[in-house]
Amino acid sequence: MNEEIKQLTELQVIDQEIALLDAEISSEEKALAKQEKAFNERHESIAELQEKIEAAEKQRREIEAELSDAQDRIKERQGKMMQVQTNREYQSLLKEIEDGKKTIKEKEEEIVSLMESSEANGKIMAEQENLVSEDKKVLDEASAKIKKHAASIQRKKSKIVTKRNKMAKGIKDSVLRKYDMLRVRRNNKAVVGVVNGVCQGCFMSIPPQHFNNILKGDRMLDCPTCQRILFHDPESAEE
Ligand SMILES: [Zn+2]
Repeated sequence: MNEEIKQLTELQVIDQEIALLDAEISSEEKALAKQEKAFNERHESIAELQEKIEAAEKQRREIEAELSDAQDRIKERQGKMMQVQTNREYQSLLKEIEDGKKTIKEKEEEIVSLMESSEANGKIMAEQENLVSEDKKVLDEASAKIKKHAASIQRKKSKIVTKRNKMAKGIKDSVLRKYDMLRVRRNNKAVVGVVNGVCQGCFMSIPPQHFNNILKGDRMLDCPTCQRILFHDPESAEE
């Protein structure tokens, strides 16, 4: 095999290792982000319940004030009953008192219903708060574990990266640039074998003349379809 290609295949093994470690770190981070999201959502739903309860409380106080006004009005009307002169006046006051009592009854019902809904929301909130404190524990543990694991992967990675950089120094700049470009564009598979005349990167056939040149192995040749750097791979070829 061409010496440059040999170097690149060795470099590629290391780059693939690095890519696997990166994927591992990123999947750990994603798992943590997912847990954090669920935790935050629960937190938000508690805040929403809290707001609902506070709004209901405010409404209840307003209705209570209205109710007290209605009671005062009834008392005032009842006081007037003593001084009433005509039947018409009497009937009118009586109606006002009856209406006032009706209003009070309605307000009382509204208050009861608000209190019931606040109580129900309070129960849900308490449950959610329990869950949140459980979640927090789980999240903290998971977070510590994931961070520790990610750090160990990171350490492993830096060692490999050092090795990679040392190795890359031995490769000609232009070759390395081409390789790096392909590596990024071709999902860490920049150098691939040709097996039975087929590129193992894109699985297209290599034209016979081009294949013959690859067989010679004296220079770097690309796949005409995917541009990956090719080498002849007799070990994988069928007997
Ligand atoms: Zn190809």
